[in-house]
Amino acid sequence: MIEEKISLRRVIGEYGGKLPGPNLVLLGGVHGNEPAAILALNHVLETLRRQQPPAFRGKLIALRGNLPAISAATRYIDEDLNRIWIPELMKPLEASPEYGTDRTVEQAERRELFRILSPLLEDYHNPLYLVDLHTTSAESPPFVIIADTIRNRRFARDFPVPIILGLEEQLEGTILHYLGDLGFRAVAFEAGQHHDPASVNNHIAAIWIALAGAGCLQPAELPDYEQQLHILRRAAEGLPPVFETRFRYAIAEGEHFRMKPGYRNFQPISRGEVLASNHQGEIRNTSPGNIFMPLYQTKGDDGYFRIRKVAYFWLIVSEWLRRFHLERMLPFLPGIRLNPEIPNELIVNRRVARWLVLEIFHLLGYRKKRIENGKLIVTKRRYDLHGPEADAGRD
Ligand SMILES: [Zn+2]
Repeated sequence: MIEEKISLRRVIGEYGGKLPGPNLVLLGGVHGNEPAAILALNHVLETLRRQQPPAFRGKLIALRGNLPAISAATRYIDEDLNRIWIPELMKPLEASPEYGTDRTVEQAERRELFRILSPLLEDYHNPLYLVDLHTTSAESPPFVIIADTIRNRRFARDFPVPIILGLEEQLEGTILHYLGDLGFRAVAFEAGQHHDPASVNNHIAAIWIALAGAGCLQPAELPDYEQQLHILRRAAEGLPPVFETRFRYAIAEGEHFRMKPGYRNFQPISRGEVLASNHQGEIRNTSPGNIFMPLYQTKGDDGYFRIRKVAYFWLIVSEWLRRFHLERMLPFLPGIRLNPEIPNELIVNRRVARWLVLEIFHLLGYRKKRIENGKLIVTKRRYDLHGPEADAGRD
């Protein structure tokens, strides 16, 4: 059992632990106004306890995210718990999980979650999986968000819903990306609108699929695996399998952003279309694509995102390029050099390497970190093809 100092409400439940296998962490209520995931996790845990599947491998750990925000049924109290897991800011917490100063409600929440999760990181010989369960303010079919590593893609493909890539370049400090960089195979699953009863069912289906995908149970040992797939397939019917994030509208303080009502997630949008307004007037879309996560709640500063469909062909190409480690050629090209201080980081002089667009780095498993003095800084994701268990001698 998880140590007793942890708040009793933090743990929704645990299951398994008798047979060796993966550690699967499921998070619900990282945003306090998204109750569907907690209902779904309780339902799955009750079913497991009732049915007692004999060959359950590894362990399921279901946790509540932001306790004070869940009590207040609000997204967050002081700051968004899903934007403060920034690696540089995590250093003091990593060094001293027990003691330290937390300046906001969410920093204290982060500390308690980290104290539960950090021992798992030392359990290298068992694979780590994370599913962070969310819902959206706009009406939406279900979808998953991942950092684009080959390991995450494999896990994400088990869920028959669209996969969204590239959000990590737009959003800093998500739990998903922080734990992914530490070796978790990690997906965020978005089930639909916050209070739509279908969101609970979509979450339940996703949790069963995750239990099979992580290897805790075989599909045949689950209560009707085909039916769980069918629920999600039907909910996401007609949507392409993969999208990449192209743009985020960041709301500035005091701009009185208002999304135009009626947008459904993934709805196609054309160039010039009026999407929202602020104190200066209309906000128009600059490029064709699909609208993603339009803001229909008062809290948060992501106005909307624009995404674009990715041809499956490119995913296959990029998997091959990465398997043959073509990225090792990059520092030999003009205008690109390795950062001598940070491994896996490249500094790209775009005046010299004009032809090298960001998409090429994406194909090779890099993400844009920032632009510095006109130079593009990109980093290779650490656990792309193999996880920490490979570092420890097996995968
Ligand atoms: Zn959320």
